[in-house]
Amino acid sequence: MSSKIRTRIAPSPTGFLHLGTARTALYSWAYARHHGGEFVLRIEDTDVSRSTQDSVDQILQSMHWLGLDYDEGPVYQMQRLDRYAEVLARMLAEGTAYACYSSPEELDALREAQKARGEKTGYDGRWRPAPGKVLPTPPEGVKPVIRFANPRDGVVRWDDLVKGPIAIGNQEIDDLIIARADGVPTYNFAVVVDDIDMAISHVFRGDEHINNTPWQINIYRALGASLPAFGHLPVILGDDGLKLSKRRGAVAVSAYEDEGYLPEAMLNYLARLGWSHGDDELFSPAQIVSWFDGSHLSKSPAMWDAAKLTWVNAQHLKQTDDARLAALVAVQLRRLGLAVDDAAVTPAMCALFKDRCNTTVELAQWLAMYFGPVTPQPDELAQHLTDAVRPALNALADRFATIAWDKASIALAIKEVIAAHGLKMPQLAIPVRVLVCGRAQTPSVDAVLALFSSEVVQERLRNA
Ligand code: GLU
Repeated sequence: MSSKIRTRIAPSPTGFLHLGTARTALYSWAYARHHGGEFVLRIEDTDVSRSTQDSVDQILQSMHWLGLDYDEGPVYQMQRLDRYAEVLARMLAEGTAYACYSSPEELDALREAQKARGEKTGYDGRWRPAPGKVLPTPPEGVKPVIRFANPRDGVVRWDDLVKGPIAIGNQEIDDLIIARADGVPTYNFAVVVDDIDMAISHVFRGDEHINNTPWQINIYRALGASLPAFGHLPVILGDDGLKLSKRRGAVAVSAYEDEGYLPEAMLNYLARLGWSHGDDELFSPAQIVSWFDGSHLSKSPAMWDAAKLTWVNAQHLKQTDDARLAALVAVQLRRLGLAVDDAAVTPAMCALFKDRCNTTVELAQWLAMYFGPVTPQPDELAQHLTDAVRPALNALADRFATIAWDKASIALAIKEVIAAHGLKMPQLAIPVRVLVCGRAQTPSVDAVLALFSSEVVQERLRNA
């Protein structure tokens, strides 16, 4: 095995980048970065009927958003068909693969007969050459599939980076189809050729692939290649204990971007979902890289916890530079239907409200009052906008028309109006909030008002 650490993520472009794949990508990336190695992106698009360019685009966009940069790729398997054909030809010549002409109907009948006899189902090797064996005559005009001549006995063992030692007997597995009749290779074959050619040293993937690994190891051996280390990550379960799926909430990474999560918070949360570093719950991408050495990976399934992700996001949001937040919030405001330029959302606005928000969507919901009309709730109006306070609100609007528009002058004007009308602070400040902000609770009223134009505030106060 070459000493250079090389990892890869190999998504199939049959949908968006799934959270489970994103976690595998993160671990593979962090492992490579931790060791000063390289990380490769490979698009496994040999399932031609289900692969789409739209999925490729979404996967690339999500990788980019998460900041999982790769040193090579994207490599597309469908652009490597010549290479697979070359390896297939070699295996056919060396007898580690063979042509099989069995029709689907024949294989169905075989399976039914095996079931009826209470046997394990699987291909019986009828086209597998053997010394002294007479093979059937190939049917005319039929293109064969290519099968791997899996060793008949012995045990495949590997020491899994996550699960520990695993052993599966060769008798348990049959001769796998490695190329379809049209010459397109199947996953288990293409993945091995690619991982060898790309000098991948460590393969992290979901544990749904554990049953594929013995075939893959046997193909490495048939090709005389050294094995990478394998780490099979446990599934992510939804809070109902079932495998995370589309039906039970968002599983597309892109949905979290839309919902106002920060990429570094997603990485933080995904990192903790199946890995730990002491009791740490909050860390930056740089800390993940510096701590992720392939140890402390959990053997048991991880439970998706939306509330915890939200908490993690809120913690990162508080730490985020306000100018960066402003640009993110501008996008969210536009999605709320408000025509907002990037420059109109100021860092000061983000600074004032971000501590109250879990996501940039929530921050946008707060800041919407600066960019469009507000609709105070009738019950809040009825409760806070009493006849006693109306004259004070008019007086405040008048006062605001004359002062310098800054927080200190606004605070002073409010104090003066309160004193002149014999009110207490909340008696004036709450109706001001309801009218101007559309809600009864906000951060400090002078700070909130200072971020409007004086004219907008006066106009909303005069709606009293
Ligand atoms: N294309 C496979 C998948 O998306 C890759 C599995 C692997 O990493 O080997 O599940």
